[in-house]
Amino acid sequence: MGKGGSVGADDERVQAICDAIRVIPDFPKPGIQFQDVTTILLDPTAFKHTIDLLVERYQGQKVDVVAGFEARGLIFGAPLAVALGCAFVPLRKPGKLPGATLSEEYVTEYSTDRIEMHVGAVQAGQRVVLVDDLIATGGTLRAGLDLVKKAGGNVVEAAAVIDLGLGGRQKLPEDLPLFVIVEKQLDE
Ligand code: AMP
Repeated sequence: MGKGGSVGADDERVQAICDAIRVIPDFPKPGIQFQDVTTILLDPTAFKHTIDLLVERYQGQKVDVVAGFEARGLIFGAPLAVALGCAFVPLRKPGKLPGATLSEEYVTEYSTDRIEMHVGAVQAGQRVVLVDDLIATGGTLRAGLDLVKKAGGNVVEAAAVIDLGLGGRQKLPEDLPLFVIVEKQLDE
């Protein structure tokens, strides 16, 4: 497995997934082209393709933990963890996790937020894959990297279903390679 990357251009599954994404203009605020992945979930073939591509990427990579970001990273991350036979760790918005937490603040395309992870969910030295639905500025994935590092884990790679093409990928630190399924153009 190379560092970061995309699905091969000749893989027909990518177009099927791309076609299943609904774009809602001006949500949650004016100027945001919201990429609605709930329409992938309505299409069992597109949803299966998405999970299959993630599984193909990470099987055999000795992944100990898949960590998914609330909310939509949970949807794609949990089936990946089941398929890989590894642990799943939810990275949640503040105040949602009942146990003691580690936390990290971050900035998204339209908000400032914080993510939390249960203390002990990731053990020192574990190999972790971060999963989210989308990368915009890259702030969320960076916060996930910092959170996993706080716990002593090693991030193997981050995976996003969609890259919005806002340059977030280029701004990720060296030790956070990114794997993307659908590369969006800014006018899409
Ligand atoms: P960022 O941290 O800026 O890379 O933003 C990525 C996070 O914000 C992901 O968890 C996305 O679910 C959400 N997000 C940001 N922009 C959009 C968008 N245009 N459509 C859907 N989700 C978005």
